[in-house]
Amino acid sequence: MKYFVFFLILLFCSFARAYNVDKIPLSPLPTYFQTGDETFSSIVDTATFNTADYKKSQRFSDQTIWHKIHFPTPNEITSINLQMSNHLIDQLDFYLIQNGNLVQHWRRGAIQHWQTEATHYNGIWLNIKLQPDQNNTLYIRKHSQGPLLTPIHFFQDSQAITEKLTTTIFWTIALTSVVVLLAYNFIIFLQFRYAAFGYYLAFHCFALLSLAMMIGASRWLFPEFIQHWLINTKVTLFVLAVWSLYRFSIGFLPNKQTKSLSNKRNLINSIFFAYFLISMFLPEKVSAILFTVMQITMIVFCFRFGIRSYQQGFIAARFYIFAIAMLSIGSAINSMMYWNLIPFNDYTKTALPLCTFLELLGFVIAFTDNAKQIELNTTLKIQTDDSTGLPNRYYYFNIIEEQLKPINQSDLALVMLEITSHSQLSQAYGPMKAEQATSTLIQNLDRALATMDSVLSLRLPNNTSKKLIRISTNKVAFISLSKKSVNQHIEFVQTFLSTPVLIGHLDFHYQYNIGSALFPSQSNTLDSLYQNALIACRHAQFNIGTWQPFNQTLKQNYAHQLHVLTLLTQDLKNNCLHFEVQPQVNLSTRKIIGGEVLIRWENKQLGMISPGEFIPLAEQAGLIYKLTDFIILKVFKWAARHPKLLIDRTLSLNISALDMLHENFADRVIALQVHYQLPASQFIIEVTETSVFENSKVVSDNVHRLHQAGFKLSIDDFGVGYSSMQNLIALRTSELKVDRYFVANILTDNQSAILCRNMIQLSAELGVTSVAEGIESEEIAQQFDQWHCQIGQGYHFYKPMPYRDYLSLLGS
Ligand code: C2E
Ligand code: MG
Ligand code: MG
Repeated sequence: MKYFVFFLILLFCSFARAYNVDKIPLSPLPTYFQTGDETFSSIVDTATFNTADYKKSQRFSDQTIWHKIHFPTPNEITSINLQMSNHLIDQLDFYLIQNGNLVQHWRRGAIQHWQTEATHYNGIWLNIKLQPDQNNTLYIRKHSQGPLLTPIHFFQDSQAITEKLTTTIFWTIALTSVVVLLAYNFIIFLQFRYAAFGYYLAFHCFALLSLAMMIGASRWLFPEFIQHWLINTKVTLFVLAVWSLYRFSIGFLPNKQTKSLSNKRNLINSIFFAYFLISMFLPEKVSAILFTVMQITMIVFCFRFGIRSYQQGFIAARFYIFAIAMLSIGSAINSMMYWNLIPFNDYTKTALPLCTFLELLGFVIAFTDNAKQIELNTTLKIQTDDSTGLPNRYYYFNIIEEQLKPINQSDLALVMLEITSHSQLSQAYGPMKAEQATSTLIQNLDRALATMDSVLSLRLPNNTSKKLIRISTNKVAFISLSKKSVNQHIEFVQTFLSTPVLIGHLDFHYQYNIGSALFPSQSNTLDSLYQNALIACRHAQFNIGTWQPFNQTLKQNYAHQLHVLTLLTQDLKNNCLHFEVQPQVNLSTRKIIGGEVLIRWENKQLGMISPGEFIPLAEQAGLIYKLTDFIILKVFKWAARHPKLLIDRTLSLNISALDMLHENFADRVIALQVHYQLPASQFIIEVTETSVFENSKVVSDNVHRLHQAGFKLSIDDFGVGYSSMQNLIALRTSELKVDRYFVANILTDNQSAILCRNMIQLSAELGVTSVAEGIESEEIAQQFDQWHCQIGQGYHFYKPMPYRDYLSLLGS
């Protein structure tokens, strides 16, 4: 809508201007310029009209200016041809007077109707027949607010034919080239649909129209009324050309300044619009001055931003600058001619079309360049990581192979580095800051690696090369070109990463793992090389900062683990797991006081798999919650069917520490217990302690609710791994199970004995029941009894048994 209104106003402007032009008053007293008497031969030989004779008429003037050319009298009827270039002179009349009588009158001005009189247009041509014995005089009247009465040439008939042909050929080539370029650009535009290109096309059209109009070639292209309309709207046309060039430039040049200008679009559009309005009513001289100012400003602007964009790495700007240079030369020559500062001759008059052509050509090349750059950027975007500019995963899987081909070496190594503390940073400072910190670290490492020999240089499409590949947010890799140098490279990385980095106010030490694999001896494809390095890297995670070279056993483990996990998922779904119970006895009376439920899994393919193997896998894969729910449900159902199980006896259930960290764990257990109407106080929930419990609100909520419902909690495997007094209090433990490792060793290892005795004493002091698990001999049983450990569990008393056997055992 806005543009429609704008267009209407422009249309109005052009008509208003046309109306004004028609109203140029004829000055009452015409000015005469008498040209000197010329000899007939001097006119034709020099073939030019003395410029000095009509200098005055080349300036801006409201006056009507007359020229009088007196021809020598020929001996016979002589035909001579007058030629002028029509350069925006509004009204141009030629009067041939012979012996005082007006013989012929020609109209040839830009706004005059004469197309029908001329069979074809090659500029202004008049055929004058000079009569013998007569006084032949030609009067030329120029009437225009604009300057420039172009030079007059005279030709004999034969010369005229060649001259006309040359002119036709010249203009045909000039205009056709511009039109062909326009067509070509239009096709490109249809392909790219690039907004800036749209403005460029508009500029191209305005430039073509202005050119055609100035040289008068629009009389070839359009009917006369369009030519008149163009002449009358010439200022509008020039301003539109400048405006579209400006819009094109800010769209084409990717620059901060051009962006900020494009935000001020309304302000700048208003300046242009104001200029239209002003130029509509002002005399041509004033509008011409204003236009020149605008043109110079625009050229300065285009140069400045073009150069700045080029300096900032926008390669396509070089041809843009060339195009602007051509535009400046063309317009400068044209303006100087217009302002009568340089003569109008064959050179100066061809400067504008030639420069316009070169300028358009420059823009076309700039576009092609830009298209290439866009393509390059797209390829770069696909192949590199956004924040570091390093080659990415895609690069590894699709490009690197080509780069490795020419390297004829026996073994090379992929070294993979996993920055494990990235997620810690994310949690502490948010993902943006963490990404920033990790990216900086990776970039610095890449630069540092560049100083090392035998690290593969990874060439990017923009002719830069890097050493690191960013495989994922926290994983990078590089390729050591020889097996021997791997050690040295890894030491280098370890030293680099041992320097702390300032993050926030902390001197942060990055935690990481390094894994490496060889190609082709260990992995014959890049895919398996990646897989092997990843396996090695993952394996190193149990030992932070260390390097784990790949070996086949690691791979087998992983493959096996995946296999186990898949089968476990299936069997859990099909309800194929069950449990056994291991009775626990009172160490002094040897009576069964309860039992520990232990999960059992027998798979058709794999046979019996120990919970020690599959429970950690289920924990890693997030399957543990289902597994816990499954076993609790199964045990509760069973206990509900056999109430005698829980009469004066307890039943211990193992859960994973991860269960405790699950928000509604307690609610789920309590809901089931209520459903099956079981006495919560007879259940003991065993958890293996870990550090994750510390200060966890979720854990303390779960503990609180389980306690409220009446469940007891027990710390399993006390003494190994992570032992914290804080946990004893946090979990409000009722029972402490001494790990079977110490139990088994008390007779042979004094330290184990001391630890066990102290743990039992500690439980007694805290009012907590102590359990010794893994008792395999009577001596051990007696020793624990002496230490006042209340409960014993182990093969010496009972092995874990099917739940039916346990029931029978209780029955007997
Ligand atoms: P745990 O809770 O410490 O269980 C005791 C383990 O010691 C059991 O191994 C048991 O068979 C074994 N054991 C008992 N007495 C003796 C003995 O005298 N000598 C020897 N050598 N071993 C003895 P199991 O059944 O293989 O279970 C291993 C671990 O798997 C358990 O250790 C427990 O942490 C976990 N687990 C078992 N069932 C479940 C379950 O339902 N859920 C969860 N989350 N973990 C479970
Ligand atoms: Mg246990
Ligand atoms: Mg245990």
